[in-house]
Amino acid sequence: MKKYDVIFVGGGTAGISGAAYLRRLDDEVTIAIIEPSEWHYYQPAWTLVGAGVYKIEKTRKKEANYIPKNSVWIKSEATEIDPVNNEVKLGNGEKIQYKALVITTGVSYQLEKIEGFKEALNTQYASTNYIYKYAPHTWEILKNFKEGKAIFTVPDTPYKCGAAPLKIMFLADEIFRKKGIRDNVEIILFTPKEHLFSIKGFAESINATAQAKNIKTYFLHRLVAIDPETKRATFENIQNGKRLTEEYNFIHLVPPQKPPKVVCDNPDLVEGSEQPFFLNVSRYTLQHKRFENIFGMGDVCGAPFAKSGAAIRKQVGVVIPNILQTLRSHTPTHKYSGYTGCPFIVGYRKVVMAEFLYDGIPTSSFPKWLIDTTKPSYLMWLLKVYFLPWMYWNMMLKGKMVG
Ligand SMILES: Cc1cc2nc3c(=O)[nH]c(=O)nc-3n(C[C@H](O)[C@H](O)[C@H](O)COP(=O)(O)OP(=O)(O)OC[C@H]3O[C@@H](n4cnc5c(N)ncnc54)[C@H](O)[C@@H]3O)c2cc1C
Repeated sequence: MKKYDVIFVGGGTAGISGAAYLRRLDDEVTIAIIEPSEWHYYQPAWTLVGAGVYKIEKTRKKEANYIPKNSVWIKSEATEIDPVNNEVKLGNGEKIQYKALVITTGVSYQLEKIEGFKEALNTQYASTNYIYKYAPHTWEILKNFKEGKAIFTVPDTPYKCGAAPLKIMFLADEIFRKKGIRDNVEIILFTPKEHLFSIKGFAESINATAQAKNIKTYFLHRLVAIDPETKRATFENIQNGKRLTEEYNFIHLVPPQKPPKVVCDNPDLVEGSEQPFFLNVSRYTLQHKRFENIFGMGDVCGAPFAKSGAAIRKQVGVVIPNILQTLRSHTPTHKYSGYTGCPFIVGYRKVVMAEFLYDGIPTSSFPKWLIDTTKPSYLMWLLKVYFLPWMYWNMMLKGKMVG
């Protein structure tokens, strides 16, 4: 049976940037990345695609070009993880062994959890920026929209990029204003949360934007069914169970999310996690709470950080040194602060750069004299549209500018 020092299960944002950083720190460890997809995606730009300011083709590149040197790409799915015997089973039935395992599978979408969800996406009245093929569909619908109700939704599971469902709503408002049809459109948001954004210092800007844009909001409501034939969506009040059905002319959907089966169906990996069905890791070392040679990074983790690429950039600088310590039989000492950065788009050319740590403690990577990041900024828009994609492909995926 083949054996590697470190195996990454999943070659997305976390898997590739983690493997690349590991290779930079250590030339000798043997590395394998298990990843079935031919393509690597830059998902944060899908919001911009949905708003017509970014080309979808620029958001995916060949995975082969990002596999770090002297690392093995196993182009297959992992179907089983056996943490007791340090083995991973692949799609073809073959098993491979590891000294340390990094689980970086991200999340999978549970489209079937909501009746009518899949069917609605194939109509001219519904879309989602969360799926590569539908992000351009969002723009097609928004640019041709004439009048009626535009509904935006937030899922009731943990989900990636907490702000993405709201970003496209704020951009839609501006699209309608530019077309001169805003008075003919009612924008409605349904969210299972009790606020738009919880981080002090930034929440004020977001609330003010929603108010200025005249967004009607139903808090504590989750989507339970869609009827694409009659264009009706049904929501449930999560406190009292009361249902409400609303007709729509456009609905932006966000799929319910949970780790892929290889993780969420394995009780050894998920039991005891802070987020049910997610990987049971320590929120600081990102080491598995039962198996000390297993670590997690990115969206698959059940620790209470915001699921984002920005969070992963910092996690790489913690997890990789911790793995090297573990391989040398030391206790991992590097700790993750819960950092995430969320370029909260509140309109065209306007971004509030919300950065925060565990427990919602606000922070900033920029000096106060240069910019007050709690206010909408054109500079941060430029960062989001030009600098961050460049940094992703050229630095982060090569193990640079991490940590
Ligand atoms: C619309 C949208 C907007 C966003 N906006 C932002 C933003 O502005 N800023 C930001 O920082 N983040 C943003 N994000 C979030 C960010 O893209 C994700 O948090 C990040 O990509 C997660 O990385 P990951 O490695 O955990 O998962 P992914 O990048 O999704 O990679 C997981 C990989 O694992 C593979 N995999 C799955 N199952 C298996 C298996 N069984 N075996 C082997 N491989 C497997 C998959 O094929 C995939 O390649 C956004 C996301 C979306 C969808």
